[in-house]
Amino acid sequence: MDEKGFDILILGAGPAGVSAALTAHARGRSAAVISADPMASPLARAGRIENYPGLPGRSGRELLAAMVGDLERLDIPLIVGRATAVMAFNGRIMVSVEQDVYQAGALILAAGAQQNARPLPGEERLLGRGVSYCATCDGMLYRGKRVAVLGLGSGSEADRAFLEGIGCQVLYFTGTQAKNAEIQGQDKVSGIAVDGAVHPVEGVFVLRDTVAASALLPGLEMAEGHIAVGPDMATSVPGAFAAGDCTGRPYQIARAVGQGNIAALAADRYLKERET
Ligand SMILES: Cc1cc2nc3c(=O)[nH]c(=O)nc-3n(C[C@H](O)[C@H](O)[C@H](O)COP(=O)(O)OP(=O)(O)OC[C@H]3O[C@@H](n4cnc5c(N)ncnc54)[C@H](O)[C@@H]3O)c2cc1C
Repeated sequence: MDEKGFDILILGAGPAGVSAALTAHARGRSAAVISADPMASPLARAGRIENYPGLPGRSGRELLAAMVGDLERLDIPLIVGRATAVMAFNGRIMVSVEQDVYQAGALILAAGAQQNARPLPGEERLLGRGVSYCATCDGMLYRGKRVAVLGLGSGSEADRAFLEGIGCQVLYFTGTQAKNAEIQGQDKVSGIAVDGAVHPVEGVFVLRDTVAASALLPGLEMAEGHIAVGPDMATSVPGAFAAGDCTGRPYQIARAVGQGNIAALAADRYLKERET
């Protein structure tokens, strides 16, 4: 495998993703974890954790740092960036992270609860028709044009600066303004409504730490806002598995860790079947 090709790619460096990576590694699989800032997991906001066995009284931040440290200890690559698209093609799964593409035989989605990824009005309908998730990938298309940047995650200031640097006229919205924005247009983006005012724009960059799983991977079956999985954590897309909060409630570390383990074992089995 080259530096961008792996047996198993794991999306998300929270408890589910780290657990999946450790199991994949233990099975002798080359694995890499793709994640936005790993310390952006909701676990980092938890005070004292009292229901995770063997490690009483740790703060969420401490527990998360120790988990992410396991990746480093085992030399499991951690690719820090936002995955903006996943494609399953010809038995391989490709994941776009900003301008890079990584590929693997199997994917484990461990992207966390989906409520922060809930699409804005107009977002899914106009995706690829003026709506973009990646400023550095698509920014040049909007050179000299008026665009909106919705900063809904970490690092959107840098994307705003990038777009201004290449000559876009940028309207920048964050916080509740960004959360409540409505993207307008028929066949392509024509404007954005914020606080009751409509601003004409030709592009809208929706910048979250996560992207709704259904938008990330076309054909992915969802159930009540979560990724639908079978008992072995397989999703509706062959070769794609899911684990943790993205598959449903209760949102708990122990459940996420257990499902990460099951998903990695199932991904290993899936690859073995294809290898024989
Ligand atoms: C305040 C608070 C207190 C809590 N207390 C407890 C507790 O006491 N006990 C307990 O068991 N649980 C607790 N939880 C819940 C616990 O944090 C979650 O259940 C757990 O973190 C879920 O793990 P996960 O791996 O499924 O997802 P997450 O921890 O959410 O990790 C997902 C990761 O994927 C990344 N990601 C998502 N999409 C993308 C993308 N497109 N590209 C790149 N990266 C992406 C995210 O940035 C994130 O780092 C608490 C949660 C909160 C918010």
